[in-house]
Amino acid sequence: MEKIKMTTPLVEMDGDEMTRILWQMIKDELLAPYIELNTEYYDLGLEHRNKTDDRVTIESAEATKKYGVAVKCATITPNAARMTEYNLKEMYKSPNGTIRAILDGTVFRAPIVVKGIEPNVKTWVKPITIARHAYGDVYKNTEMKIPAAGKVELVYTACDGTEERSLVHTFNGPGVVQGQHNLCDSIESFAHSCFKFALDTKQDLWFATKDTISKKYDHTFKDIFQEIFDKDYKDLFKTAGITYFYTLIDDAVARVMKSEGGFIWACKNYDGDVMSDMISSAFGSLAMMTSVLVSPQGYYEYEAAHGTVQRHYYKHLKGEETSTNSVATIFAWTGALRKRGELDNNQRLIDFANKLEEACIKTIEDGKMTKDLALITTIDNPTVLNSRDFIIAIRETLDRML
Ligand code: NAP
Ligand code: MG
Repeated sequence: MEKIKMTTPLVEMDGDEMTRILWQMIKDELLAPYIELNTEYYDLGLEHRNKTDDRVTIESAEATKKYGVAVKCATITPNAARMTEYNLKEMYKSPNGTIRAILDGTVFRAPIVVKGIEPNVKTWVKPITIARHAYGDVYKNTEMKIPAAGKVELVYTACDGTEERSLVHTFNGPGVVQGQHNLCDSIESFAHSCFKFALDTKQDLWFATKDTISKKYDHTFKDIFQEIFDKDYKDLFKTAGITYFYTLIDDAVARVMKSEGGFIWACKNYDGDVMSDMISSAFGSLAMMTSVLVSPQGYYEYEAAHGTVQRHYYKHLKGEETSTNSVATIFAWTGALRKRGELDNNQRLIDFANKLEEACIKTIEDGKMTKDLALITTIDNPTVLNSRDFIIAIRETLDRML
């Protein structure tokens, strides 16, 4: 087979630890034999981030703006222990946070559904994608402990000095208080990213808040979504045969449990934090969860939802065998390659990405899997493979399919 050519480079962001090992294996075994890989490489491994004072992270995000599509390996977010382990000059911020801030994007997380890894909710036959708003609310709050009786007010001081006040509560004794905010700009970006992603993946979009109780705050979210939908997306959704609907968060939760999946659920920041953990654990495994950052301008950055799998890496360094699941990282590559193919009208690249995904699923459904899946599968007597052999097994399936 003649290797597939790529006309535009993909931004490649390499990472850390076990996922860095998998990254190279995936390229060597599953990509390079079939594609003339055209990537602009950025090494986001912690050593190189340290060497460049983290400039490489910023440059990789800028490159994503230039080319439109990136694929990212999991990276270490430094903490105190990493400072000594890697002899860091400073405690760099999370690369994902830095990239998200530059691209102003929304993260969409979706499980990879495979027969034999059954969701705990038996009606779920298709993936449920969570879109979490990544700015503000309780994550940027101001809190106060109220020691004793007194009055708490919200005060807004306009630039011209005029004030608007609103009573929060008159305390008769001790209590607590919390101030939250969000920005219309950020909510608008969130809405655009959600509508774009729904069109892109041809899935219905649900959005839910608690606007009956929060008549100004949550209601603003609801209104902004509706305005943007009516103005920019209504006709496009109709043509695509998909729907947007808004409902109360408690109604959404009840409906989700009875649904068959196959839609995007947009959530405010806190709801998204909580619900994405619920969805991923109910679908089986973090190692089977993909994640894509979509900017309101339509830039895409694909990655796995899990981290660098540190515990496995230390085993690997000691020369012990590991059985680390590479599926989510492979799907990060296929997501990015397919998107590149769509933007460049490169049908061979799109077909290859689809085939490689099918090969991953088929390999697992044939009973060949890593240990994490073997522990939860309903398939009898699965074959447990090590990290490399699992990738080789996928390659064998792929070769049979091509
Ligand atoms: P983790 O890498 O997600 O791994 C936690 C545990 O989940 C592993 O020890 C393993 O369980 C299981 N696991 C996760 N992915 C797996 C896979 N592909 N195959 C098999 N098992 C898998 O989280 P962490 O250990 O808390 O974090 C390690 C580093 O990753 C941290 O430095 C953190 O900053 C970073 N991180 C990065 C990202 C990102 O770049 N997007 C996200 C989260 C965390 P067992 O050990 O029981 O086998
Ligand atoms: Mg969480």
